[in-house]
Amino acid sequence: MQINDVRDVVLVGGGHSHIQVLDAFAVTPPSACRLTLVVDRPIAVYSGMVPGFVAGQYRAEELEIDAAALGRRAGAEVVLERAVRIDVANRRIELEHGDSVPYDIAAFDIGSTVAGLDIPGVREHALPTRPIGAFVGRVAALLEAARRHDAGTPFRVVVVGGGAGGVELAFTLDQRLKDDTSGPIEVVLLEAGSQVLSGYSDSLVRRVTRRAAERGIAIRCNCGVTAAGPDVITLADGNPIPYHALIWVAGAVSHPIFRESGLPTDDRGFVRIRSTLQFEQHDALFATGDCGTLIDHPSSAKAGVYAVRQGPFITDNIRALLTGAPLRSYTPQREFLTLLNLGDGTALGTKWGRTIDGRWVMKLKDWIDRRFMRRFQIRPPG
Ligand SMILES: Cc1cc2nc3c(=O)[nH]c(=O)nc-3n(C[C@H](O)[C@H](O)[C@H](O)COP(=O)(O)OP(=O)(O)OC[C@H]3O[C@@H](n4cnc5c(N)ncnc54)[C@H](O)[C@@H]3O)c2cc1C
Repeated sequence: MQINDVRDVVLVGGGHSHIQVLDAFAVTPPSACRLTLVVDRPIAVYSGMVPGFVAGQYRAEELEIDAAALGRRAGAEVVLERAVRIDVANRRIELEHGDSVPYDIAAFDIGSTVAGLDIPGVREHALPTRPIGAFVGRVAALLEAARRHDAGTPFRVVVVGGGAGGVELAFTLDQRLKDDTSGPIEVVLLEAGSQVLSGYSDSLVRRVTRRAAERGIAIRCNCGVTAAGPDVITLADGNPIPYHALIWVAGAVSHPIFRESGLPTDDRGFVRIRSTLQFEQHDALFATGDCGTLIDHPSSAKAGVYAVRQGPFITDNIRALLTGAPLRSYTPQREFLTLLNLGDGTALGTKWGRTIDGRWVMKLKDWIDRRFMRRFQIRPPG
């Protein structure tokens, strides 16, 4: 590869890092580069505001980032198709319908999917949180089902997965259903492990447990789900739990693309990457966000905050690889501020083992989220 040749740079996925690359490349285009954006859908949905959407605090449009428009503004050719395989030997990204896109440098920011979709009945009957845009599109039908429900018995929503996303959805759904429907509501949060919010501080777990009890949200731990039917799930101990709506938010696993390309992955299928964000054995391939697992920090959470922080690094490192400059090393922050929207106008925040609570915490979350979104809104002229 000659430094002055025109090189094909392909960005696959419109996640939190790539929208920053596109934003930066629109301002200062990299020289000698033909840019292509491959996205399975033109609009990326910002997950941080999804619980707020569920609570009725945001409209669907307020969560949307037009990744395809950002791509076109950056001068990229936009390919609206799902990437399914990487042909490393021939440097091509293979697409769902048989075409392929050549690359000299390719970067992946394709996020993750939800664990447990292969459990019998889950794919058919549950409402999974991934793809997140599809989840957002199905919330209205859930609310309508609750409104139509016979008010003589509680409308029961079971949320499976007690991570941060599951906790937020349990609280925000509880609030929205109480606001929007007249009958009784029951929200049950199921967690397979021994407590919710594994890996978070004890003070946050205590606060969530207390607020759930005050709101009448049932939290049940050590409850692995083994099967789902149209209106009942079965737990590992054989006990059934009837439901009217089943939300599936049982942790992150990788899309199959990396394993199917024969690349080194971690045990959840996420591609292994170095601190430069390059694949373990391939200098021309990068990954950011959920889809890459840092070899030196394998237990970093799959959270959007990391994908956001990696944005400037991947931007600089693509430029560096194009010009032959040295690449930057990324180290994930050890702690980050987690903010959980409880749907009632309050939020919980936690960092360094301490937990904060209240309306001002929700205002802070709203300010952070809206500020992030404003950076990527492409508005018509005038
Ligand atoms: C309900 C909920 C709330 C959450 N709240 C927070 C929060 O407050 N803070 C936080 O830090 N994390 C939060 N998370 C986690 C967060 O959503 C993820 O960590 C984050 O979205 C990962 O960002 P990403 O850039 O890796 O990918 P994503 O944001 O998921 O983007 C992936 C992009 O790639 C595209 N794509 C996917 N597959 C392909 C393919 N094969 N080919 C082409 N394009 C593809 C998608 O359409 C999308 O544009 C939440 C998760 C959930 C479910």
